[in-house]
Amino acid sequence: MFTPIQILKDKFGYQSFRFNQEEIINTILRQQDAFVLMPTGGGKSLCYQIPALIFPGLTVVISPLIALMKDQVDALRINGIKASYLNSSLSSEESSEVYNELKRGELKLLYIAPERLFNNNEQFMFFLKSLRVALFAIDEAHCISHWGHDFRPEYRMLSSLKKEFPAVPIVALTATADKLTRDDILNKLQLNQARVFISSFNRPNIHYNILPKRGMYDELTTYLETHHDDSGIIYVLSRNSTETLAQKLTHDGFSAVPYHAGLTNECRKKNQDLFVKDEVKIIVATIAFGMGINKSNVRFVIHADLPKNIESYYQETGRAGRDGLKSEAILYYSGGDVIKLKKFAMVEGNPEQSRIMLRKLSQMASLCESNTCRRKTILNYFGEEAPDVCGSCDSCLSSREKFDGTIIAQKALSAVARLESRFGLTYVIDFLRGSKSEKIKEVHKNLTTYGIGGDISKDDWFRYFQDLISLGYLKQTGSEYPILALTEKSPAVLQGKESVFLVKTISKKEISFSEKPYEKELFNELKIVRNNWARQENVPSYIIFSDATLLELATYLPQTEEDIKKISGFGEVKLAKYGQPFLKVVTTYCTKHQLASRISEKIPKRERRTKAERVVETDTKIISYNLFKDKKTILEIATIRGLSPATIESHLAFYIQSGKLKVTELVSEDKIPQIVSAIKKYGHYLLTPLKEVLGEEVSYGEIRAVINHLKYTN
Ligand code: ADP
Ligand code: ZN
Repeated sequence: MFTPIQILKDKFGYQSFRFNQEEIINTILRQQDAFVLMPTGGGKSLCYQIPALIFPGLTVVISPLIALMKDQVDALRINGIKASYLNSSLSSEESSEVYNELKRGELKLLYIAPERLFNNNEQFMFFLKSLRVALFAIDEAHCISHWGHDFRPEYRMLSSLKKEFPAVPIVALTATADKLTRDDILNKLQLNQARVFISSFNRPNIHYNILPKRGMYDELTTYLETHHDDSGIIYVLSRNSTETLAQKLTHDGFSAVPYHAGLTNECRKKNQDLFVKDEVKIIVATIAFGMGINKSNVRFVIHADLPKNIESYYQETGRAGRDGLKSEAILYYSGGDVIKLKKFAMVEGNPEQSRIMLRKLSQMASLCESNTCRRKTILNYFGEEAPDVCGSCDSCLSSREKFDGTIIAQKALSAVARLESRFGLTYVIDFLRGSKSEKIKEVHKNLTTYGIGGDISKDDWFRYFQDLISLGYLKQTGSEYPILALTEKSPAVLQGKESVFLVKTISKKEISFSEKPYEKELFNELKIVRNNWARQENVPSYIIFSDATLLELATYLPQTEEDIKKISGFGEVKLAKYGQPFLKVVTTYCTKHQLASRISEKIPKRERRTKAERVVETDTKIISYNLFKDKKTILEIATIRGLSPATIESHLAFYIQSGKLKVTELVSEDKIPQIVSAIKKYGHYLLTPLKEVLGEEVSYGEIRAVINHLKYTN
C-alpha cells in the first residue's frame, strides 16, 4: 500500500506537500466529496492525481479546455503514469485505442470535456458505468456557475453526476470563486456533504510593481533588455496595439508576437505554440489570451494598459510564476487610461451594472494611486487579511526622500534658458538626456547643455520637473502645447544663490530571481538541454522540467545519482530517463569551473504554517493599544485618531495574537463559540465569507480577534 507522501516523492519527485494538499488528498481517500479553492499554481492537480494512483479503478477528470488536456496527460505520462484523454482532436483510431485501454482497465486517469458524458443519449455515461470509476475530478469548477466569470453551459449537465454515480466521490476545483459562486458550485453539483478547503489568495512569488506610464516604451525595453532569456506576457487593451507593439519590439530586437481574437485561428494557434514552446519569448496580447495556458515559466506579466478591475488584474498577473519561482507583475499606470476605460464601463440601458463596473474601475485606479502595500490592497479586496507590509511590492520596497537637488535644478533651468523658453517638457527632457532623435534640432545638439542630464532617467526627470514647477522655479504656459519657461525665482538658482530640495523615490532592494546564489551560465545551459529534449519529444519544455527544477540543479550542483534524487522534480521515471544526461551537464560545468556539490545545503522545505506568519507591530498599532489600555472605547479611539473603527479593531486584534490582550476584552463571551465554529468550518483565510455566515451581529473586528485568539492559543 502506497501512502500519499511516498507517491509524491517517488512518482513526482517532490519533497513535501504544499498548502492543504495532504488534507485534501486524505479527505478524497476517505471517499468524501471535496471542494478545493486554491490560487493558480498552488498545486490543485496533485490533489486528485495522487488519490487516482491509490484508488483501484479509474479517475475521470472533467476539464473545459481541450488544449490543456494534452498538456496534463503529457505531464503525467512523462512521470510514467497511465493517463489519456478523449476529445475531438483525436482521430477515430486514436479514440478507439483509448476505449480499449479503458476496457482493459489500464488507465488511472482519463481527461474528458463535460459534453462527452452526455452526448449521444448518454452512451459514454453507460460505458463509464461498466468500468470501475473511483473518482470524478471537476477542474475549473466555477464554469458551472453563472456567477463565475466563465460560465459554460456544458458544465450545467454535471448536476446529474451525483445522481448517476452516488457512490463515487467528487472533487471540485477552482482558482476563482467568491462566496456566491462557491455556494452555487456546491449546490449545482449536489455536493451536500463536501469538505471545503480554501487557501490564501496570496501569490508570494509574484512581485507587484506599478509604475507611471509616462515614457513607458523606454522603461519597458530597458526591462526587457535585462530579461532576454525570460518568457513573458504583455497585455494591452486593443487588438491594434498588440500588433503595433509586437512589431515595434521585434524591430528593436526582441522576440515578440501578437495575439488577439481578431487573428485567424491558425495564426493564433501558431503564435501561442511558439510562445508555449519557448521559441518566442514575448506575447503581446489582449485579454483573449490566457485561459488554457498552462505554461509554468512565465517570468513576467506586464500591463501596458490598465485592467478594468482588480479581479482581472489578479487573474492576469496570476499567469506568472506557476512554477513557484520569483516572477514580476508590472503595470504602467496613467490617469488617462481610467478615463478611457470609463467609456467602456458604461453599459447602455443598465445603470445598475454601469455603477458596479465604474466602482470596480475606481478600485483598480486607487490600487495604482495609493502608497499602501499592493499585495495587502489586493488581498483585502478579496476579503482576506494581510500584513501591512509584504516586502515584495514597489510600495514596500521604496521610500521617498528629500535631497539637495540644486545641481539637478541648475541643469534643468539652464536647459530651459538655452532653449529660450520655447519648448515643452518632453523636448527639454530629451534634450537634457542627449537624445539622438531627429526631433531634436541640429542646432540644439551643438549646445553645451545638450546631454548634460544623461545620467538621470526620463521618468526621474519628469518627476523633478513636476517638483520644480510646483516649487515655482519653472512655469508652464499655454494649454494645448504647454511651453516651459523660467520664472522670477529662476535666476537665484542659476546663480547658485539658492539651494533647491527635491524628492526622490528610492528603491530599497532589488528583487532577485533566486534567494540563493546560483550558476547563471549553467542554468542557461540546462535550459538548452531541456529544450532539446522537449523538441525531441514534442512537448513544451516545462513538461520535461520546470524552471524550478533547473534552478535547483544550478544551485545545489548535484554530482551523483544519489544527489540528483534530492532535486525537486525528479520522480523515478524522470530520474531513469533524464538523470544521467542532466547530471553530465552539471558535472562537466563543475569540473570546468572547479566547483563542488552544494547538495548538503538543501534542506527539505517545510511548508510554513499560519502560526509562523510574521505580523509586525507598528507605531500606529501601539498608539491604538495604549489608548485602549487607557479605557477608551474603539469608537472613541477612532474619533481621536481620525481612523475608521474597523482599522482600530484590526490594530487591537494584533495584540490578541501576541497575547497582550485577551479575546474577551474585544468580543463578548457569548459570541465566541459561534465564531470559532464558523472558522473551523470555513477556514480563516477569507473574512468576507465568515462575515456572511455570521451575519450582522458579528463585526469583522470580532472575527479577526477570534482568529488571532486561535492563532495565539494554538
Ligand atoms: P494549479 O492547477 O493549482 O494552477 P498545478 O497543479 O498546475 O497548479 O501545479 C503548479 C506546479 O506546482 C506544477 O508544476 C506542479 O507539479 C507543482 N507542484 C504541485 N504540488 C507541489 C508540491 N507539493 N511540491 C512541489 N511542486 C509542486
Ligand atoms: Zn507590499
